[in-house]
Amino acid sequence: MRVANVRGRPWLLTGATEGIDIHAASERRLGRDMGDVYDRWDELSRWTPSAHAVKQPFEVAELGPPSPHPRQVFAIGLNYYSHLEEAGLPAPEEPSVFTKFVSSFAGPDTQVTMPRGNVDWEIELVVIIGREAHRVPRAGAWEYVAGLSVGQDLSERASQLQGKLPQFCMAKSFPGFSPQGPALVTLDEVKNPMDLAMTTRLNGEVVQDARTSGMVFAIDVLIEQLSTRLTLYPGDVIFTGTPAGVGACRKPTRFLKRGDQLVSTIEGLGEIRQVFV
Ligand code: ZN
Repeated sequence: MRVANVRGRPWLLTGATEGIDIHAASERRLGRDMGDVYDRWDELSRWTPSAHAVKQPFEVAELGPPSPHPRQVFAIGLNYYSHLEEAGLPAPEEPSVFTKFVSSFAGPDTQVTMPRGNVDWEIELVVIIGREAHRVPRAGAWEYVAGLSVGQDLSERASQLQGKLPQFCMAKSFPGFSPQGPALVTLDEVKNPMDLAMTTRLNGEVVQDARTSGMVFAIDVLIEQLSTRLTLYPGDVIFTGTPAGVGACRKPTRFLKRGDQLVSTIEGLGEIRQVFV
């Protein structure tokens, strides 16, 4: 199933811009708002609408992020071999974890107001947790995933890297810096999540072109490693790292400008679109 956040309510998608309001179609049993979805994910993921459920159109601009207020947000740095290579860094021994504050969350089709500095792109596969997870072994880790989505870990590189200590969380959490969507896609709809094509286009030009198979720590390893130390909760969001092609690693460097349009696509999950103002 594909579940999208339409004006704060969960809709089961029946097309790119058409779906069923889950709360109405479940006789108000499920999904009063998009956050509720993950507290009762097992129930919701087994639910099917009746044949009479009303399909309604929506506009992509009305979509919010698939998990709008997670308890926790994890982002993984340096998690693609190609990105390590362009950055000239060795592979980390364990995942490098930071957060993107939830105030930076946004839907899939947005205008992003650029702060001062150098705003860069990072396409990322986003994982949304569906069950509480603590000390989960790698072998069973996928059972804790509600689904996947497309995200951008937008990053302002001047404040990220110029101080004595790097400021990942702050530099990646300006308003609108964590666009996600268009929907949460459950695993039964994805052939092999660890081998999906991912592409970022800047004004039509391909600037990132990779596959999720290039991850250093695969998604099941990330869940194992994160849940060794802490508890993951339903609705928690993991940004799983970006492949090569970011502006900061180019020679010369290249950053976003006013009026630029960024389109980020992951095979089978859809695309998100940001315009910078
Ligand atoms: Zn990132």
